[in-house]
Amino acid sequence: MGSSLGKLIIVGSGSSGLGTALAAARRGWQVLILEARDIGGGTSTTSTKLIHGGIRYLESALKRLSRTDWQLVQEALQERYWMINSHPQLCRPLPIVIPTSNLWERGYYGFGLKLYDWLSFPYRLEAPRWLDQNALYKQFPTMKEGFKGGWLYWDGQFEDRLYAVHLALFLRQRFNVEIRPYHRVTQAHPRKNSIKVEIETADGERYTEEGDFLINATGPWSDFLRRALVPTITPRLRISRGSHLVLEGPTPLFSGFLIPRTTDGRIIFVLPWKEGYWLLGTTDVEAQVPEWNPAVPSEEESYLLAHLNRYFEGEFKIKARFAGFRPLVAANEKSPTARLARTHVIEVWSNQRCIHILGGKWTTFRKMGEDVMKSLYEKVIHTSLPEGASVEQIVPDLSALEALKRAYPSPILPQEPFTEGEVRFWRRLGWAYTPADIVEGRWQLHLIDESRANQLKASLQERWNELT
Ligand SMILES: Cc1cc2nc3c(=O)[nH]c(=O)nc-3n(C[C@H](O)[C@H](O)[C@H](O)COP(=O)(O)OP(=O)(O)OC[C@H]3O[C@@H](n4cnc5c(N)ncnc54)[C@H](O)[C@@H]3O)c2cc1C
Repeated sequence: MGSSLGKLIIVGSGSSGLGTALAAARRGWQVLILEARDIGGGTSTTSTKLIHGGIRYLESALKRLSRTDWQLVQEALQERYWMINSHPQLCRPLPIVIPTSNLWERGYYGFGLKLYDWLSFPYRLEAPRWLDQNALYKQFPTMKEGFKGGWLYWDGQFEDRLYAVHLALFLRQRFNVEIRPYHRVTQAHPRKNSIKVEIETADGERYTEEGDFLINATGPWSDFLRRALVPTITPRLRISRGSHLVLEGPTPLFSGFLIPRTTDGRIIFVLPWKEGYWLLGTTDVEAQVPEWNPAVPSEEESYLLAHLNRYFEGEFKIKARFAGFRPLVAANEKSPTARLARTHVIEVWSNQRCIHILGGKWTTFRKMGEDVMKSLYEKVIHTSLPEGASVEQIVPDLSALEALKRAYPSPILPQEPFTEGEVRFWRRLGWAYTPADIVEGRWQLHLIDESRANQLKASLQERWNELT
């Protein structure tokens, strides 16, 4: 769809970039997304995979009497509802239990969860309910003794990376949004009525693109483009690493479990994950530079396991580990990263024809995109934001993928369900540059079982040239 409105160049195909693309494309903008690596492969693949308002932020909103935190929770609860319904195959409501040891905890958590439920009105999931001791231990048979009961409440869970890829495909099919993976923006040059960007592809080719406006949606890497445009600008982001473990537990896990107090005053989620595994996370450790595919440090692994072992008996085998960097907007240099609210900030640089979207969370990606467009219309174009086409679901048409799977049904490895047809589909689309893009980005196997993922990557590498 050509556009009389103009062309928006979005840098980054994580949740922030895709949310902005959705908000722009549904209003008729021509959208080009430039992504340095694979779609959604940055922070957007390393989340805890919760679609949530944030129980912890509610607690902090109450303790600090912070209106911003309060609004963040309310807004996220509304978006939670939209997102769960936006792609029912990849998103689902998830029950989570908070264990209690005494009457005070029962009252405290019960009050908080009822408030959480009330805040979500009219976008509620199911109401929280009390589990007595029998019901609690039935739900978690390997839990250690000593708990009197627990509160069961609802949030959502999703497959973050695949959701990003499906959203990208939906945007391409419905609105003709163009997405170029492995095209890194290296420099940007604002002009009077446009902005020009320099791009380098993974093959070393260099070229330029020009658009009416540039959106910097590069997550934890956002300060790079800010400084490319204004070299003297102070960095705006603080980066905090969050690590997760995927574990094979003594029994499969069916509901989530919240460890309500860690040694450093945080919370940890223990969540049901693929193939009956347990997903455990996360940590919050300040870092200096965001790396791509960061390793999980052994101290963080021990920290997570030590907390799990306080609540659960039995042996746990680590199947996979992953970590990512939260892009947090700095309040000041001293406050601990765990205390920084996960809200988003939009910086409008009219003279540079650029808008930066900083911070935020996956759950609010659609709202973040809407806020970017609202800022563009109100502060730069000086008109009010038009309504645009309504989008309630982002499920792409996968019939071409299914057809290729039928045409090339051979598995990549005999014991695995993944077929040659799928590899050919993503390669023909130009959305798979390396075997990792398929194994991690489409099958998410590195988040389930590292050793299986490595075997598949090695096997794909050998046949990469023929699978086109
Ligand atoms: C440990 C952890 C747990 C979390 N858990 C949750 C959760 O459970 N629920 C929730 O709602 N939120 C959660 N979040 C928050 C959420 O994951 C992030 O806020 C969100 O994914 C950030 O998306 P983004 O698009 O801003 O950044 P990214 O996903 O990092 O996307 C930025 C993209 O920009 C690209 N890029 C960078 N530089 C360039 C360049 N020069 N040219 C082209 N492309 C470039 C990168 O390759 C990357 O793909 C969590 C975050 C972390 C770290």
